[in-house]
Amino acid sequence: MEQLQNNLKEVERRIEQACIRSGRKREEVTLIAVSKTKPISMIETVYKEGIFEFGENKVQELCEKAACLPERIHWHMIGHLQRNKVKQVIQKACLIHSVDSIRLAEQIEQEAKKLGKEVFILIEVNIAQEETKYGISPIEVQEFIQKVAIMPHIRIKGLMTSAPYVANPEENREYFKNLSQLYIDIQKKNIDNVNMEILSMGMTNDYEIAIEEGATHVRVGTGIFGERFYQIKKEDEVNV
Ligand SMILES: *Cc1c(COP(=O)(O)O)cnc(C)c1O
Repeated sequence: MEQLQNNLKEVERRIEQACIRSGRKREEVTLIAVSKTKPISMIETVYKEGIFEFGENKVQELCEKAACLPERIHWHMIGHLQRNKVKQVIQKACLIHSVDSIRLAEQIEQEAKKLGKEVFILIEVNIAQEETKYGISPIEVQEFIQKVAIMPHIRIKGLMTSAPYVANPEENREYFKNLSQLYIDIQKKNIDNVNMEILSMGMTNDYEIAIEEGATHVRVGTGIFGERFYQIKKEDEVNV
């Protein structure tokens, strides 16, 4: 498993460099290790290196892994969430990055109320307005937030995006800049029940650029765990 440790060191080195380039403190950026499709043994190795934040994109997989790994781990739900899985996921995930509809927010509110708990969420923004992607259109985000902010069992913590897959990550810089600006604009409005403190953007291909543009959380899968191998099941690939 030495490969994993080396990968992690390299990611850590690059995060530090990106922080230095942009005059930010290393503590301002949280690394989420995206462990989807990867086995428990690999997660344990990464955990032992001191990583406690892990991301999964499927509720069942997240819950199964959470059940057999240390409680100390924080699980982030980063994939598209179906309403019938809300009840399950809010009991295990520390943060849902992918809230992308009012109906989903309403379902979270309803289930959170039943459990008597508060659920932390991010609003997923389709920053490049890609047809194939989930997320609220940037121009609709403020209105969306107003509607969700009044739900008493939901705490809006920030924004999330997945930028387009591009050959040169510099191409995503303007998208990250735009989301960062939107995040700051909303922050300044001081809306009740809304705390803009998490800006979740940047994946293996572009996390350094995302950090330079203000990301507080980067979601790195391949860069830590290596390539993912999917079984031939089309639906699995939608969220890659
Ligand atoms: C898979 C996934 C990632 C990690 O992607 P890599 O390119 O492997 O780093 C990040 N965010 C989301 C939403 C994902 O589904």
